[in-house]
Amino acid sequence: MLNLCPTQYIIPSSIDPLSEKNCPLPDHEIDNIYSEFGLDPQLPLITQVSRYDRFKDPVGVIEAYKLASKLTPMQLVLAGGGASDDPEGEAVLNEVKQASNGASNIHVLLLPADANRTINALQRASDIILQKSIREGFGLTVSEGMWKGKPVIGGDTGGIRLQVIDHYTGFLVRTPEGAALRTRYLLHRRDKLEEMGMRAKRFVRENFLITRHLREYLTLMLGLTNENVERITVGNV
Ligand code: UDP
Repeated sequence: MLNLCPTQYIIPSSIDPLSEKNCPLPDHEIDNIYSEFGLDPQLPLITQVSRYDRFKDPVGVIEAYKLASKLTPMQLVLAGGGASDDPEGEAVLNEVKQASNGASNIHVLLLPADANRTINALQRASDIILQKSIREGFGLTVSEGMWKGKPVIGGDTGGIRLQVIDHYTGFLVRTPEGAALRTRYLLHRRDKLEEMGMRAKRFVRENFLITRHLREYLTLMLGLTNENVERITVGNV
């Protein structure tokens, strides 16, 4: 009988630890971030790096920040850029600006497409990385943050669930209230923050570096030499 359901291999995405986005940076380059963007070096920093897209829920991040910062002083960076394939970006950016309402500790950044070292430095300067998406593919920014030894508070959706092991490498959340609660918890429990950050880095080293990606492709190629090629489709998450 004809098999209409081909075998599928799903290979999760990965990050390159030697790229400008993820390579180690000298301390002065990380410290420059504070003066470049008017950040306060004395205040805890939480950051979400994302296109201004409703699925990334930047307004939800601002709500979370507003809730959390009522009780715990902190500052928020939302770092994003325009994407040529994203016509709604400008509208979402306006919503974000409105939601932030000029608050001095919310920094809405519009970065050029090649600001890889800047994003790297922002992630390294942060205490916590947020990726509060309500829909997500793999979510590269999650592994990028984890690789820098940061716990990630991520939306409980899509590929974020592969990367954020709830209560272990970070927290999975569904609401601004949930994100606020976890943010305050981590800022008050520095020991847990450090511990989760270390686990996050180790988890990315073991699972989401380009070396694992290459190994899986090579394994698949090897597998293909022994199977009916037409029955196989390959997908990237
Ligand atoms: N990114 C960037 N500049 C920005 C916003 C995002 O370089 O202003 C990068 C981010 O560091 C990550 C990628 O774009 O490497 C976004 O990938 P992800 O899977 O997180 O989200 P997507 O935009 O593909 O939905």
